[in-house]
Amino acid sequence: MSSSDLSSSTQRLSLTDIDLLMQISSMLTTLDRDHVLQQVIALATKAVGAERSSLLLHPDHRDDWMPLILERQPHSDSLERLDARQPGFHLAKRVLDQGLAGWALRNRQAALVTDTKTDERWVDFPDSTSQARSALAVPFIYEGEVLGVLTMLHTQPKHFTTHDLQLLTIIVNQATVAIRNAQLFHRLGQQKRQLEAILRAMPDILLVLDDQGRLMLINDAAANLLAPELPLAEFEKRKLTDFIDSGHVLWAVQEIINQPGNSTVWSFEVRSSAHHDYLGTVAIWTTEPAGASGYVVILRDITTLRDLNRFKDEMLQMASHDLRSPLALIVGYCDLIAMDTPAESHVHEYLDIIQRSTERMSGLLDDLLKVEQIRNSPLELNEQVDFTALVQTAIANTRSTADNKRQQLNMQIELQDLPAFIVLNPVLIREAMENLITNAIKYTTERGTITVRAWVDAGRVHFEVEDTGIGIPKAALSRLFESFYRVKQKGTEKIEGRGLGLSLVKTVVERHQGQVWVESEVGIGSKFGFWLPIVVR
Ligand code: ADP
Repeated sequence: MSSSDLSSSTQRLSLTDIDLLMQISSMLTTLDRDHVLQQVIALATKAVGAERSSLLLHPDHRDDWMPLILERQPHSDSLERLDARQPGFHLAKRVLDQGLAGWALRNRQAALVTDTKTDERWVDFPDSTSQARSALAVPFIYEGEVLGVLTMLHTQPKHFTTHDLQLLTIIVNQATVAIRNAQLFHRLGQQKRQLEAILRAMPDILLVLDDQGRLMLINDAAANLLAPELPLAEFEKRKLTDFIDSGHVLWAVQEIINQPGNSTVWSFEVRSSAHHDYLGTVAIWTTEPAGASGYVVILRDITTLRDLNRFKDEMLQMASHDLRSPLALIVGYCDLIAMDTPAESHVHEYLDIIQRSTERMSGLLDDLLKVEQIRNSPLELNEQVDFTALVQTAIANTRSTADNKRQQLNMQIELQDLPAFIVLNPVLIREAMENLITNAIKYTTERGTITVRAWVDAGRVHFEVEDTGIGIPKAALSRLFESFYRVKQKGTEKIEGRGLGLSLVKTVVERHQGQVWVESEVGIGSKFGFWLPIVVR
């Protein structure tokens, strides 16, 4: 409805008027708060044939209800919004305090004044320009709170009837819902903008993808990584694969999207060609009920942390070299003392303790040096190996340990698509496999189940060990493959270990250009695995 339509109309509308109903319902679908308010006043003025009308929102209601006064003058097309600088504003505030609007506000009731000369609810303000003889005032009440008052005026006494009062009450009731909706929408918009500002400011790389790998939201850091020159808006709906290939640090995310499996959270670590280390986490998002779904990806630059780690490893390597000779001396002198000590002496007990301790220490140094050796020395990758036989050997070598704990050790080998021989270092890879299987046995209680899987996919051979063991807290997952890292959790206090096994597995696998992974849930179990590129000669 145009505003000239409104002002020229003197004819009253009845409740059954289709046009009025349509306008009330259209008001309900409007989400712009100011527009709703304008519509309310225009619609009400027309419906009751008022000459002058105003909408007074409670000035000190809530933060997001700014004090708002809209007035519609007689025969005027437009609504006037009064602010504190205009004289009408102060008059309107007084009306809200003491006048008819104030009465409706305090009493939470609609008021019909058929003659302002005789009704004591009506207060004449000397500075008012209105010559009103009849009036209507209806409060907006939402969840027990009065939000404002709508007032209609006419210069003729008895102009308004109870029918008008009912009509106005219906419009106001509907408008209250519409205003509330608009207000909520406004607030939602504000929160969205706040969230966007937070995401943009965070230094981590963040991407939200749909289930097909299309970008739904990315922050500045992510845009910088994908295509620094492209404006943010242009990323939307484009596929991740438009920006990355298999060498990219985000390729692991694409692989998860291609084959999500049953997990809901993944973590991985990658090193970029520019020598940056990243820790990535991918989590599934879904909307209820069973609506859209996709992935939230966060990539954190942990180069400094890894550099420190590398520094730590170097220090350990130096220390372990330097410790070997004094250890050998201690062992040698212990033997000499033992020979010179009478058999019945207590000294033999002390020497035993020293010897056991030095053995543990040299075992630790051996492991450490082994990891370092694998990490640094050139890898012999010239052997043609039957991978299936290798998996079977690893299982056979660990079966008795599982049997001792009465655990079931299953295997699911699907390697028929694998060439008969592939190139890798069999000693190291078998050791990595056995490490994962013995860990699964170690961290699973008696009668648990260990399942070893091997399969081929996309030019890679995969090996995985799943257990029904104690599981690992999420916070520890990213550190598991570090040297000397052991999870401190209930149930592991008595399990012996040096925290070097997984570090060895990772080193071996990465030396073969492969990658390790872990998924785990406390109390349910863990899955450790790796893939290796299939190399044939
Ligand atoms: P450790 O000698 O301590 O077993 P690892 O490097 O092999 O050293 O493992 C590091 C840590 O990872 C372990 O201390 C343990 O807390 C955790 N871990 C490894 N494998 C499993 C598993 N299958 N289930 C639960 N926790 C595991």
